[in-house]
Formats: sequence, C-alpha cells, structure tokens
Amino acid sequence: MRNNLKALYELQEIDLRIDGLDGEKGQLLGEAQALEARLIEAREKIAARREEAAALEAEKGTLEANLASENENITRSESHLKEIKTQKEYQAVSKEISGAKKLIAELEDQILTKINALEELSGDVAQKEADLAQLEQNVAEQQGEVQRRVQSLEAGIATDAAARELTVKGLPASVMKRYDRLRDQRKGVAVVEAKEGNCMGCNMHLPPQLYNMLFRADDVITCPHCQRILIMKLEG
Ligand SMILES: [Zn+2]
Repeated sequence: MRNNLKALYELQEIDLRIDGLDGEKGQLLGEAQALEARLIEAREKIAARREEAAALEAEKGTLEANLASENENITRSESHLKEIKTQKEYQAVSKEISGAKKLIAELEDQILTKINALEELSGDVAQKEADLAQLEQNVAEQQGEVQRRVQSLEAGIATDAAARELTVKGLPASVMKRYDRLRDQRKGVAVVEAKEGNCMGCNMHLPPQLYNMLFRADDVITCPHCQRILIMKLEG
C-alpha cells in the first residue's frame, strides 16, 4: 500500500498542476474572447453610423426631389403668367409663385442641414475606422501572444497527462474510484498531507491513534473530518 500512497500523492500533484494549467488556459481563452468582443463592438458601432448616414442620404434625396418639383411648379406658373388676362388671376398665380419660393428656401435649408450632418457623420466614421484599424492590429498582436501562451500551456498539460497515465496504471481501480470521487467532492484535492498531528486539507486535528497508523502507512487512511486520503511524508 505504501507504493500506492506514494503514487496517489504523485497523481494528486500532477492533477493539481493540470488543474492550474487548465485554469490558466481558460483565463487566456477568456481574454481572447474579450478581445474579439471589443472588435465586434467597434465594427457594430461603425455599421450603425453607416446606417445613420444611409438614412440621412435617403432623407436628403426626398428633399431634393421635392425641391425639383417646386422648381418645376414655379417654371409652370411663370409661363402661365403670360397668358393671364385678369388682375384676380394674376394675383392668384403670383401667390402660388411666392409660396413655392418660400417652400424652396425652406427645402434648401433642410438639405443644407442634412449635408452638414452627413459630413459630420462621414468624419466620425473615418475616425472610427482608423481607430478600428489600430485596434485590429493591437488585438492581432495580443491574440498571437495569447495563442503562444496557450500552446505552451497545452504542451505542459500534455506532458502531465502522459505522466498521469503512467501513474494511474499502477493504481488499483478501486483506489482510483475513491480518488476521483473525492476530487469531485473536495474541490480537486483528494490526497493531503498529515502534518504535526493535523490534516492539511481541513486543518483539523487528527486522533493520535490514526496518526500512529499513518506512520505504518499500510492502508489508505482518510481524515475523519474531510474524508480526504491522508499521507505522511517521511522522507524529505
Ligand atoms: Zn481533513
């Protein structure tokens, strides 16, 4: 059993190392995702501004069509003036013309407002696109760095996984079952040291009789408080 305990402790150390590497990898992948999200957000903002510009452009188009039609009205009314016989008719047509001119001035004002807004928007889009290009470059560099670190973590995980496989081979299935269950129940820590009369897993005091049995270490002994497998490091 002594060899089993040693192997179990080694397995625990390997698994904690793998857990740590997995955790680091998860964090890095989370960072990569956050970087990608920043790009998506920046792109969406630009797309939204472009949509605004398209809407403004359409509104401007409508105003310009109205302006053209008012200009046609004036031309028509002015040619009409030549054929007019009565003062009353003349007044009516003149009124039409001055009404159309007033409308044209308003339309021109509105078109100018749209043109100014469009210019402002296109400046904003250009700025945002320049920012995005910079961001894309930064993100690409950071993603490259993240990828390099993930690869190195994966290499470490693969090495540990190989060592784990060897260690597991030497352990009885019943012990592995117990170990796996404890890992699930005890936040990944199934095997702990007993030191100075205490369990290093839960820091509770161990009964002296149990502590004495640990010195002989001829069986899997568990902590009566946290149920973790106890080992005693005699050498070093
Ligand atoms: Zn304990």
